[in-house]
Amino acid sequence: MRVSHFINGQLAAENSEDRTAPVFNPATGKQIREVAVASTSTLEEAIAAAEAALPGWRATGLQKRAQVMFNLREIINSRRSELAAVISEEHGKVLDDAAGEIVRGLENVEFCAGLVHHMKGEHLEQAAGGIDVHQTRQPVGVVACITPFNFPAMVPLWMVTTAIAAGNTVILKPSERDPSAANWVAQAFKEAGLPDGVLNVVHGDKEAVDYLLQSPRVKAISFVGSTPVAKYIYAEAAANGKRVQALGGAKNHMIVMPDADIDAAADAAVSAGYGSAGERCMAISVVVAVGNIADELVEKIAERTRKLKVGRYDDPTAEMGPVITKASLDRIVGFLDSAEANGGKLVVDGREYDFSHIEDGAEGFFIGPSIIDHAAPGMPAYDEEIFGPVLCIARVDSYEEAVQLINSNQFANGTAVFTRDGRTARQFEFDIEVGMVGINVPIPVPIGSFSFGGWKNSLFGDIHMYGPESFNFYTRRKVVTTRWPLPSESQINLGFPTN
Ligand code: NAD
Repeated sequence: MRVSHFINGQLAAENSEDRTAPVFNPATGKQIREVAVASTSTLEEAIAAAEAALPGWRATGLQKRAQVMFNLREIINSRRSELAAVISEEHGKVLDDAAGEIVRGLENVEFCAGLVHHMKGEHLEQAAGGIDVHQTRQPVGVVACITPFNFPAMVPLWMVTTAIAAGNTVILKPSERDPSAANWVAQAFKEAGLPDGVLNVVHGDKEAVDYLLQSPRVKAISFVGSTPVAKYIYAEAAANGKRVQALGGAKNHMIVMPDADIDAAADAAVSAGYGSAGERCMAISVVVAVGNIADELVEKIAERTRKLKVGRYDDPTAEMGPVITKASLDRIVGFLDSAEANGGKLVVDGREYDFSHIEDGAEGFFIGPSIIDHAAPGMPAYDEEIFGPVLCIARVDSYEEAVQLINSNQFANGTAVFTRDGRTARQFEFDIEVGMVGINVPIPVPIGSFSFGGWKNSLFGDIHMYGPESFNFYTRRKVVTTRWPLPSESQINLGFPTN
């Protein structure tokens, strides 16, 4: 079966100039579909559809736009399990986890349903004698949204929903590895009453992205993905005069202070480390044990890790699924192969996990959860984003050393501290150079009415995603200065206007 583009409100007919790419079920390792890979002519068709829809959508009353969001919420809510199955089959995450991703995407739909408030401008009466000033928000135009494989519904719902709420028209270029959820979302928008052409899904790879980056008809780029690509997108989009926000990779550290509840911290580390097989940008990938609790903490984390059940997405007893591709699996195995030679200690080794209970899973991209103790800078498993079910443990003597470790890391997406001491928690919040911080919360993804974004190599650009900040990204402010003088007040004055 082929996954087609969704252009101008319908699935596009096959274009002989397009290429195709295989889509796998990671649990079986078998190809289940092929996805169209857009050629220039497909991209042109999508851009033309988005351009044609822009004047009408821009002019649509805000209450009508909001109604689309309310309808979309109802559709997604009532068919949540259907969307979860679409996500899980191509991504591999267990159905429960896919349902969680949908809930977090819906938060932004709910936030956008209040667009009549978020699109308000400002008005200042009598800024100078007889002069009023007001500011409005207007859409940017045709916006391209480029999304990663790991949240095939949530990240599109973050970007696309806000862009549309703000009056833009959109070209969504989802990951080619799990493309079907994007089409499902586009179809749901259509059923919610969104006019044709406002949201178009174009499947493809770097070639499609490059075309969108270079097209002068695309005015803004939202990107979420790995750091090298984010950096490239940021530079290219800026060089082409576009507004751009590009969210990158992560290496999220969780500090456990000696006074923390060690059992609660161990639970949190396991949940945040291995949920979605570690393929979350907010996954905890390094636990920093401070002081003399390290041995006890490692033992408790290991005890819990050994009990985790890996399985197919549709096995209701499975807690974590496979990783996305064979290449990703091989890369993770590589980190484990070299861990001990690089000074680490493999406390739990995911290569040894017994997968025999998994039906039809022999060729699946499965790896068990792993713990690498004594991880430190200079070790590839510590320095690089693994994006798999591998938890590193770094041991330090003091709070200051822990903060120094985090603040010297290239990534700065999320972090957490586990402590019972309010003063330490407050100091951590003040000291730490990371965009999203959890205090006894391991995955501090902000709720929908705040915005989401990291610092340093985790975000290129200055505007965070979804929530209030993203209305700034997807609108241009226009300031209007107004005066209604009497004919008698008119005069020639070549001086610079002052009050
Ligand atoms: P990726 O960078 O490989 O791909 C992301 C998107 O970019 C895809 O649509 C892909 O088709 C496209 N792409 C890939 N290579 C490209 C290239 N060379 N030029 C132009 N476009 C290219 O990322 P991924 O593997 O799909 O997703 C995982 C990564 O995303 C991880 O690094 C993860 O940390 C990151 N991520 C970050 C956040 C965040 O909010 N910061 C959220 C989710 C995922």
